Amino acid sequence: MDDKAEQLSTTSKYKSQFLANMSHELRTPLNSLLILARLLADNSDDNLTEKQVEYANTIYAAGNDLLALINDILDLAKIESGKVSVEIQETLFGDLENYLDRSFQQIAQERKLDFRLHFDTGLPRAIYTDAKRLQQIIKNLLSNAFKFTERGYVSLNVSVVTEGWSSTETILNRAESVISFAVSDTGIGIAKDKQQIVFEVFQQADSTTSRKYGGTGLGLSISREIARLLGGEIRLVSEVGKGSTFTLYLPQYYLNNYTSPSDDFSKGDRDRVSHRLNLRESTLTKNWRSTQDSQSPTENERFLLLSEKAIEDDRETIQKNDRTLLVVEDDLNFARILLDMAREQDFKVIVVTHGDAGLAMAREFQPAAIVLDICLPVMDGWTILDRLKHDPNTRHIPVHIITVKEGRQRGLQQGAIAYLQKPIDSEALSEALQQIKAFVERPLKNLLIVEDDEMQRQSIVELIGNSDVASTAVGTGATALEAIASNRFDCLVLDLGLPDMSGFELIEQIKGRLNLNYLPIVVYTGKELTPQEETQLRRISEAIVIKDVRSPERLLDQTALFLHRVQANLPPSQLKMLERSQQNDAVLANKQLLIVDDDVRNIFALTSLLETYQMQILYAENGRDGINVLQNNPSINIVLMDIMMPEMDGYETMRNIRACSQFKSLPIIALTAKAMKGDQEKCIEAGASDYITKPIDNQQLLSLLRVWLYE
Ligand code: ADP
Repeated sequence: MDDKAEQLSTTSKYKSQFLANMSHELRTPLNSLLILARLLADNSDDNLTEKQVEYANTIYAAGNDLLALINDILDLAKIESGKVSVEIQETLFGDLENYLDRSFQQIAQERKLDFRLHFDTGLPRAIYTDAKRLQQIIKNLLSNAFKFTERGYVSLNVSVVTEGWSSTETILNRAESVISFAVSDTGIGIAKDKQQIVFEVFQQADSTTSRKYGGTGLGLSISREIARLLGGEIRLVSEVGKGSTFTLYLPQYYLNNYTSPSDDFSKGDRDRVSHRLNLRESTLTKNWRSTQDSQSPTENERFLLLSEKAIEDDRETIQKNDRTLLVVEDDLNFARILLDMAREQDFKVIVVTHGDAGLAMAREFQPAAIVLDICLPVMDGWTILDRLKHDPNTRHIPVHIITVKEGRQRGLQQGAIAYLQKPIDSEALSEALQQIKAFVERPLKNLLIVEDDEMQRQSIVELIGNSDVASTAVGTGATALEAIASNRFDCLVLDLGLPDMSGFELIEQIKGRLNLNYLPIVVYTGKELTPQEETQLRRISEAIVIKDVRSPERLLDQTALFLHRVQANLPPSQLKMLERSQQNDAVLANKQLLIVDDDVRNIFALTSLLETYQMQILYAENGRDGINVLQNNPSINIVLMDIMMPEMDGYETMRNIRACSQFKSLPIIALTAKAMKGDQEKCIEAGASDYITKPIDNQQLLSLLRVWLYE
């Protein structure tokens, strides 16, 4: 590299480093501002006037705008410094069209504008580029078009072109085939002398724009940088008062300066293959499940409660205020040992051997604690844990997992209070039971907050505090260690940036030197984590909450989970926040799901449900189409398969899918009619990973999806 180029690259590295740090510094104070504004706006004490609530809402909204701006700056800095990786994928033009239609039709209606999507018939089937980034650019151009147009129309024309881009664009010149995406509007237009600068950072065509239309002036800069990243270009033609056309040119097969298209392809394929291989492992370990007893828990809970009694336990003598332990364990010998030992600790004990019965009993008896095995007939322990922890009525019940299977971190992350691996001796067992008892007897839960910023510390205490939690807040790693040495805490909230040691060091000390493996740690940070940091943190902490708009809710939610707080006893403002947080499920969000069902109403109902969890839904109305959609969308994560379909039924479709080597381990959940006995065994034989009976119980479906998508 020559001197000049080297200098430039160093400067740009410093610049993006600076921007990244600055964004972090801005996010931190903004975070308390957002938390407190939200608390005020909720007006839970009912002592603010309507005006004051409105002010609080304005502060909150303005804070969010500021946060969006900071995120944009960070995005731009990352792209400019080359820190963004592109993920090449096949994107069908048909899918893109549906997606854009869904995203903008309503805006068009509200703005009373005509919205025209035209995908040329000469187009190939798909484009191979970074789908997310392509969507980001087009959405930005379309949003602008709608924003700056009062009457007339907004259109998108997609076609194959052989010219139109700048002659200096070497990548486009080299590309075999170029696709153009032209976004046109009949809006206010942009004057000749402004057509260059609108692409620059923080530039708007005239200074009154932001007052009238809002916006930051960053959208086009980001779009242009992304276009470059993908080997393309954006050009603008516009006339004041008539309208504008922004055209994005992209190679049909992703190309950049360093790779040939085939290189990138094989890499994408490799990733996909290794992803599938990872999935396969978990499928193998899951497919052991027995299907002898297929009573559904919702079918007749009472019947189940009475019939499923493998051991003489205490279920008939339980009184209202008894301290009850529910044991869900199919190894009867071990269950008997547990029963005897727990009785010695003054527990009344219920033992069940089937997973679904375990769930039903937990709901019916509201036990003080649960001992749960993972490998269980009918419904495995992961599903039970997931369901318990997603139901406000059972979420607070401490669950001790005792199993031969590995999965400590998974268990703890999902809210289990302890994870013991068999074989386990009686001493360890008795200690575990004592711990259960001690926890149950202690009504007040102890929370430690480690955060060096005084204001933040205060706002976290405010956010989480209530009469059932005693919070201790400290500002350094050393004082945190002192506090831990002399008290028993149930949960720790940790900011990574401490003055005397790094958050990583502190966690190492706690989990390593002090051997406090049980203490759940919620990392609460405004720092942009590198992928390595994130992986490392996931391994050693129970949850990571990044400080952003949603973070107060998530923080409250995660700590409530680990502190085992009884949701019904929380004040209304906290309840509201929990409800909001629970609508956001990181495991489900952005996953692609294919529904194969011949009943359109069913597709519609499932789509409406799953889209509220930010899942991306594709569908097919018969088996053959289902297989086609799968073949055209290798990124589909999971399939819901109806069994009763004309022509090719669900069994045959699944067998055909499993016959393709690339779908050997794709999770498929079969939708079966409850009436027919033996259906479920047939589903598993035909290749289903799991099944659910109709009419579908929403919570059960969500839970199955989470369990299968967990990897
Ligand atoms: P923002 O829209 O957030 O201000 P952009 O970078 O997306 O930021 O756009 C920069 C400026 O370009 C806008 O403020 C506006 O002045 C001008 N502009 C963008 N798109 C259009 C359009 N379709 N019609 C008229 N002006 C536009």
